[in-house]
Amino acid sequence: MSGSRQRCASCGHELSETDPQLRCPACQGLLEIHHARPTLSGAALRARFDERRSVSRGALASGVWRFREAVLPTAADAVVTYPEGNPPLLDGPAVARWTGLSQLLLKHEGHNPTGSFKDRGMTVAVTQARRVGAPALACASTGNTGAALAAYASLAGLPALVMVPRGQVALGKLAQTLAYGARTLLVRGNFDECLELAEQARAKLGLYLVNSINPFRIEGQKTIVLELLQQLNWSPPEWIVLPAGNLGNTAAFGKALGEARAWGLITRMPRLAAVQAAGAAPFAASFREGFARRHRVDPHTAATAINIGNPASYERAVRAIRETNGVVTAVSDEEIFEAKAVVDAAGVGCEPASAASVAGVRQLLHSGVIDPGQLVVAVLTGHLLKDPDSVTRYHQAADPRPPGANPPVEIGPTLSDVERELRACGAV
Ligand SMILES: *Cc1c(COP(=O)(O)O)cnc(C)c1O
Ligand SMILES: [Zn+2]
Repeated sequence: MSGSRQRCASCGHELSETDPQLRCPACQGLLEIHHARPTLSGAALRARFDERRSVSRGALASGVWRFREAVLPTAADAVVTYPEGNPPLLDGPAVARWTGLSQLLLKHEGHNPTGSFKDRGMTVAVTQARRVGAPALACASTGNTGAALAAYASLAGLPALVMVPRGQVALGKLAQTLAYGARTLLVRGNFDECLELAEQARAKLGLYLVNSINPFRIEGQKTIVLELLQQLNWSPPEWIVLPAGNLGNTAAFGKALGEARAWGLITRMPRLAAVQAAGAAPFAASFREGFARRHRVDPHTAATAINIGNPASYERAVRAIRETNGVVTAVSDEEIFEAKAVVDAAGVGCEPASAASVAGVRQLLHSGVIDPGQLVVAVLTGHLLKDPDSVTRYHQAADPRPPGANPPVEIGPTLSDVERELRACGAV
């Protein structure tokens, strides 16, 4: 086998790399990209990836395309790139203390061009759309996929249609989608209904769908893991913890780790911990039953990015958890927002769904799944400013006042009022 192929994860049916179908024509299963083993492996492949860290312009400066052998080896030219990726791996001592860990590293994907990890998948999906000559792009979104699609479609000069659940999209995300110029449809339904509608529109109207059921999105999102391994000099952490909604990222992380080990980039597998919001936790319910069956729920969480009841990448995420000896858990919205307040007050900041990973770390530590001395990387998936309403709501809630609330104080235009407030906060 040379080059890359698309293969049905359910029945093994194969399609060429540039076949624009989104599902297996034989059984409707999801497709996966299979790459030929790179000509380099182990230390030589690590060295190639490491050399490119000094590239400052063009596709190889991207934290996605730097790993092109693992992403889309044949699309070297004509990629649609911002460039994206390269967000920091932060040491978060105050956040670590809150969880009970001695050290916690935060991979901050909110520092991507549109403020979430979705840019990593989108650069690859839109590149592929251009390769196959797609006339127009579409997605269903809880907000961030739409924002990323809107930006990358504009970079590529292609029209885009974004379907979001009306009234359930955070303000920053909706603003971006409008501003970057996508046709934005406010669907009277939830995300799962938006996704069904988008798939129908793809089949009937010939749109190129860039949801994470698109296997090229997964290839791009794998680079979150490759990049964090690289930032740790290829010495893997014990745990990688991430929020889980539609499960595209969980699937991507499992695939990245499997390939990294097969290609000799690492010799030891980190364990994955996928964290859901308790009000939208069908994957955690399946995990508790040893993945005996798939669950569907009516989702209710204020962490809108993970407000999903019927995750599309269920099957491949199950494999990711099994192959990494991983775990799945759920945390309440109270825990998510308390964790978010801690991440925010540490000067780091993230959107609500991202804080699920930090709340999950604390819970898994308290239940003895994670040891206090283990090296843990928590992925922060989106930027603080994505959801400004959730911030003002939290800090101005009165009864009861939430942990770490920092309400604004109204004063008269007098120095004595300023002085009083200065004393109240212990600054003088
Ligand atoms: C999309 C998204 C998630 C969920 O990722 P899945 O791949 O759908 O599981 C989590 N956090 C943020 C900020 C997101 O945009
Ligand atoms: Zn199939």
